[in-house]
Amino acid sequence: MKRLSGITESFTESVIREMTRVCDAANGYNLSQGFPDFESPDEIKRAATEAINKGLNQYPVTYGERELREAISRKARAYNGIISDPETDVTVTCGATEAMIATLKAIINPGDEIIVFEPFYENYGPGGMLSGAVPRYVTLHPPDWSIDPGELERAFNDRTKAIIINTPNNPTGKVFTREELDMIGGLCGRWDAFAITDEIYEHILYGNERHVSLASLPGMEDRTITINSISKTYSVTGWRVGWAIAPKKITSSIRKVHDFLTVGAPTPFQHAAATALAFPEAYYSNLRARYSEARSFLFDTLVGAGFRCAMPKGAYYILADISGLMERLGADSDVSFSHKLIELTGVATVPGSSFYSVKEKGRRHVRFCFCKRQETLDAVSDALARLRESPVL
Ligand code: GLN
Repeated sequence: MKRLSGITESFTESVIREMTRVCDAANGYNLSQGFPDFESPDEIKRAATEAINKGLNQYPVTYGERELREAISRKARAYNGIISDPETDVTVTCGATEAMIATLKAIINPGDEIIVFEPFYENYGPGGMLSGAVPRYVTLHPPDWSIDPGELERAFNDRTKAIIINTPNNPTGKVFTREELDMIGGLCGRWDAFAITDEIYEHILYGNERHVSLASLPGMEDRTITINSISKTYSVTGWRVGWAIAPKKITSSIRKVHDFLTVGAPTPFQHAAATALAFPEAYYSNLRARYSEARSFLFDTLVGAGFRCAMPKGAYYILADISGLMERLGADSDVSFSHKLIELTGVATVPGSSFYSVKEKGRRHVRFCFCKRQETLDAVSDALARLRESPVL
């Protein structure tokens, strides 16, 4: 057989999704892949079945059903301060994942560099490689995941095509401040680079945190591609409906890639998504209240069990330091630790190395998600307490 694609040899299948399979096989508690184990809102489930029963089952408009593009544009204006024309600036995709790959493919030429903050959401690595981009990593420094302005400045150069920002951030829980976004915007302007922002956790914020969209900052509207999805906000990760908002010229390039990659996102779910985007403010405050409780509960559980972690400011993950427990579990890495943890407690996590370019950097971390029912979190708490009480070696 001739050699298969060299690009695909450069990355592995997703570890996050692999951990879900490992968890299912062990019948464990899935705190690895970030999806809720509670029901999606009835109203959008009804909207989806109504759309199916009404016969909305054929191909959608390739770049998105008009009703949904209009709903996206309205919401982006009201919540994000982004002005967009649904006819020319919005592309509906199969989840934020496709929006990111389609965007990268639409703007990258071989050898172009993209700046990625590290730790990063696993998908950005392969997404970048599939588009032919060369990644340059800039560290988010623990414990508060701050940016070193000098390091960021040094990452930009003539070859920089784009910077990827994910705020609120997976896996760190960082929420980029207005000042940080101003600094990033300034550098994009200076180096004529695009900004690609993944804002999928925009409603999952704690305390007084506020979400700021980079595209709403002066001068950034022409060079920012804003990516989002209904997956996390409306607890429908399996529906695969996301989007990219970008100026007309960039959008027409994204739409071409999207058209030939997937033709379109599922038609009935697009109509249900339009219903979701019109939910009242109370929906979002309830979501925040629910996750706020889950966050405190998991944080206390983890600290009680011997993990070291910082309280996330947004999103629904805790990246926990396992240094104090590795020896106890006879684990020499994040990967062996996560497998031992499932074996001993049934709790599934994601090894920290999945979020770093150099595996070693994530060797002392695992990521937990807390988008789960209280019942699940109670069971996890009991399981992890047992770990502390009984000798496991
Ligand atoms: N964003 C989720 C996570 O980080 C899962 C994404 C996915 O598997 N597509 O766990």
